Amino acid sequence: MPHYPVARLRPERRKSILAGHPWIFSRALMEAPQVPDGALVTVTCDNEILGTGYYNSRTDIAVRMLSRRDETVDEGFFVRLFERLKAERAAWLPGDTDAWRVAFAEADGCPGLIVDHYAGHLVFQLHTKGMDLLRTPILNALVQVHQPQAVIERSDLAVRRMEGMVDQPVGVVYGKCDGEVTFRENGRTFIADLLKGQKTGFFLDQRENRLALQRWCKGRSVLNVFSYSGGFSVYAATAGARRVVSLDASGPAMELCRRNLAANGFDYPASEFRTEDAFEALANLKPGEFDCIIIDPPSMAKSQKQLKNALKAYTALNRCALNALPEGGLLVSSSCTTHLDSPAFLSILHYASVQAKCGLKLLESREQPFDHPYNFAFPEGKYLKFAICSKI
Ligand code: SAH
Repeated sequence: MPHYPVARLRPERRKSILAGHPWIFSRALMEAPQVPDGALVTVTCDNEILGTGYYNSRTDIAVRMLSRRDETVDEGFFVRLFERLKAERAAWLPGDTDAWRVAFAEADGCPGLIVDHYAGHLVFQLHTKGMDLLRTPILNALVQVHQPQAVIERSDLAVRRMEGMVDQPVGVVYGKCDGEVTFRENGRTFIADLLKGQKTGFFLDQRENRLALQRWCKGRSVLNVFSYSGGFSVYAATAGARRVVSLDASGPAMELCRRNLAANGFDYPASEFRTEDAFEALANLKPGEFDCIIIDPPSMAKSQKQLKNALKAYTALNRCALNALPEGGLLVSSSCTTHLDSPAFLSILHYASVQAKCGLKLLESREQPFDHPYNFAFPEGKYLKFAICSKI
């Protein structure tokens, strides 16, 4: 007997699941299983068991796969998963870094769950109804495997409404933490607010791209646009940039940015921290003031429909930066929009340079790090683009 009520897959859809894809769309099921939203199901096809997942009738993705076996999904299941991910991360993470992504949803075999680690503190997000119902075994397993000082939930996510959930739980669910945590990334010191900061507190996915930036920005005058709490600013400063100006629309982010630079020994004047709109600031830049401009905007298209406007916005940002850069100046540009793939992103940079009437050479092109893995079975999980270019 299967462990859970059965969700029957149409035979013509078997190939995708056998290839490791974790999603089953509602039209790929023979019929809707008679279970409540979020319930665990055993996925079968022609009476063969393909694995275990959870179901939701409200979303286009009807089933998300948790396992390729017919097994119980309980605390023990998550302990085994988190042990495996912990060992993998520990083997590859640099010794002078104590913040990383512990579990990255589909790419790590846990659709709907994201967990980040900051110096002994864990922050998790439950994106789906199925994962929400598994909160207790997930929390117990995280505590058992990582023995953290504190665990914080940051499920303040708009997607939960589409999943049929109305609450947006945020808070310390295990141990003690007042929000602020100091951690190390590639030997630099950072402070993140795990309760009030954006996402889980810090953009850990740019860790290796920040390191890459260092090679190019020594002696330069750097403008870090969409700086948030100053990840790129701190690396530019420690790499020996002549000047580092950070710019973000968020006041609290700017204050944290100032403190993060100070924590690494850089006490810049208040004028180097600009709480401004990036579009306006870039359009009004004095040409030649900066010879390295970093642009790392938030995701601009949550769906394919919004992509057209996002393309316009990306092009405008990069064009304005190129207009303001001198010859030989560096454009460091990133995008975390999933719906924009890497070739399309590079085309935007090309198009922006055509509009700015200059040439552009690619010095380095990068993607997401191993703790935000790109899993070949799940192409939808590829999202981060990062390019370092030189204006010619
Ligand atoms: N580069 C950062 C992450 C950037 S996240 C890092 O390495 O940590 C995107 C940032 O863009 C957020 O901090 C957000 O406050 C800011 N932002 C969003 N819209 C903006 C706008 N119109 N002008 C300036 N900043 C904006």
